[in-house]
This record gives sequence, structure tokens and C-alpha cells, in this order.
Amino acid sequence: LRNAQSNNLRFDLARVTHDQRHGPDDLPRAIKQVLDDNALEIRYQPKVDLRSKSIKSVEALVRWPSDHAQRVATNLLIDTAEQFGLIEQLTIQVFNKVLQEAADWQVQGLQVVVWINLSARLLAMEQLPRVLERLLQVWNMPATSVGLEVTESAFIHDIEHTTALLFELKNLGFRLSIDDFGTGYSSLAYLRRFPIDELKVDRVFVQGMFSSQADKQIVQSIIGLAHNFGLSVVAEGVEQESTLNALRSMGCDEIQGFYFAQPMPAQELIIWCEEFRRQGAARL
Ligand code: C2E
Ligand code: MG
Ligand code: MG
Ligand code: MG
Repeated sequence: LRNAQSNNLRFDLARVTHDQRHGPDDLPRAIKQVLDDNALEIRYQPKVDLRSKSIKSVEALVRWPSDHAQRVATNLLIDTAEQFGLIEQLTIQVFNKVLQEAADWQVQGLQVVVWINLSARLLAMEQLPRVLERLLQVWNMPATSVGLEVTESAFIHDIEHTTALLFELKNLGFRLSIDDFGTGYSSLAYLRRFPIDELKVDRVFVQGMFSSQADKQIVQSIIGLAHNFGLSVVAEGVEQESTLNALRSMGCDEIQGFYFAQPMPAQELIIWCEEFRRQGAARL
């Protein structure tokens, strides 16, 4: 029986792997095609502000085209794009689409800061600030309505260059956040050195809070650390009310997760925010 089960498991794994990667060689080519077709999609997930009980920010998350014959998970898309030199093109496309949709929200009366994930590799792109500035001009959007989420891994190489680039982005008006804080090579020196506005507690710690005292202490410590440095803290991956309540009592500023909302298309977000304004705050 054990053998039969493990054979089944192997079969399933092979199928899943095949589905998601369509073979080792042609995924980069499929990504290139999707990029050239300008076909990536964006979903938005609200960050709920606990003090004001309102939505001040949303995070943009890239999605493989929903009508594509294949299915590709976001993590795999990003990893492969990074590996095959496609991440710059992907990022520019995401940025362009997000600004287009965010400009549309403004017209419809929704005022939120939209946060975009930046791969560590992008910080090596010399022209990054120029490119982003140009896209802002195209959509007539202020940099202050955009935040950039960067993981700690961005900081371990060429610290001089990274520092200069982050200051350049900050001076343009972008807000800056350290994503998945605590999972990489966290260093207190970053908090002193970089012009950061926000820390995002990784969902590994958030979701481990009730089973692990250590995770709870890590979350509490990150919140305290952020506040000591005058930074805002966001907890990601909040799925349950009990987690929300614990985070609130720890003084966490913003909450993101399936408890409130899954990432959704731009038009749905407008409706969701309207709905939240009317009755969502009752869940807080
Ligand atoms: P991240 O920036 O840490 O994003 C959070 C991930 O957690 C997202 O997965 C989101 O859908 C998921 N999530 C949100 N709430 C919950 C929850 O309550 N429970 C659980 N289990 N998961 C939740 P997603 O969209 O698959 O993105 C994965 C990662 O891919 C992101 O992690 C980010 O590092 C990267 N990524 C996504 N979009 C982009 C992009 O446009 N550019 C770049 N460079 N990276 C991106
Ligand atoms: Mg993020
Ligand atoms: Mg994160
Ligand atoms: Mg994460």
C-alpha cells in the first residue's frame, strides 16, 4: 500500500510540475511571449489600517494571464524571470499597468497608496529611478502615491550602491518598505542606514504566533523595533480574527491577508473599498 501511495504521489507531483512549469526549457520563452504581448495581469490586496479603520494602501501582485493555456504560479514566474534576465521587462510592465489602473482609481475617487514589489536585482539597474520617473510622467501620477516593497536580500550586495539608489528613490517621493522582514539577513544597520518608511512582518511569523512562542516574540520585537525607529509595521498573511486581535493588541499598524481580502482586480477593488467604508470596519 505504501508503495502504491508513493507511486501516486510521484505521479501527482510530476503532473503538477508539468502543469506549472511546462517543461524546464519553454517557461522562459512563454514568459517572454507574455511580456511582449503586454499580457500580465495585476491583482490588488488592501492593507487595512487598524487605527483609522480605513484603507490607505494596497499591494499590487502580478498574475500570469488568466486566459493563458498554461498556469504559472507567481513565485515561479518571478524566480524564472529573474533567472533568465526578464525581470526588468516584467517590472516595467507591472509598473506601467499599476500606474494606469491607479490613475483610473483617482478619477473614480479612490485615494490609496499602491505598493509594488521590487526584486532585489532591480536595485542593480542603474536607470531604475529614471525609468520609474518617466512612467509616473506618462500617467501623470505623483511618486508619493507609490510605495516600493524590497526584501532584505536586496541589501546584502554592494551596500554603497544600494544606499545611493534607495536615497534617490526616496528623494523622488517613493515610499519604501522592507518586505518579509525577519526571514533574510536582517540587520539593524539597515534601519539606520536606509530611508525606510515601513516594515512588513513575514507571514511565516504571523501564522506561527499561536503555535510558537518564539514566533510571537519575533512579531512583538519587530513591531517594537519599527516603532522605535519611527516606522510603520504591516503584518501579512492574516487569515483569522484571533490573529488580527493579537496583532492589534501588540500595536501593529496595518493588516493584510485573506481575513479581509484576497488579491483582486482593479475594478473590484474600488467596489470592495466602498463596501469596506460602509460596513467592513465592523469587523475591526
Ligand atoms: P509578497 O510580496 O510577500 O506577497 C505576499 C504573498 O502572500 C502574495 O502571494 C499574496 O497573495 C499572499 N497572501 C496574502 N494574504 C495571504 C494570506 O492571508 N494567507 C496566505 N497564505 N497568503 C497570503 P503571491 O501573490 O503569490 O506573491 C508571491 C511573491 O511574489 C510576493 O511575495 C512577491 O515577493 C513576489 N511578487 C508578486 N508580485 C510581484 C511583482 O509584481 N514583482 C516582483 N518583483 N515580485 C512580485
Ligand atoms: Mg510584497
Ligand atoms: Mg511579504
Ligand atoms: Mg512573503
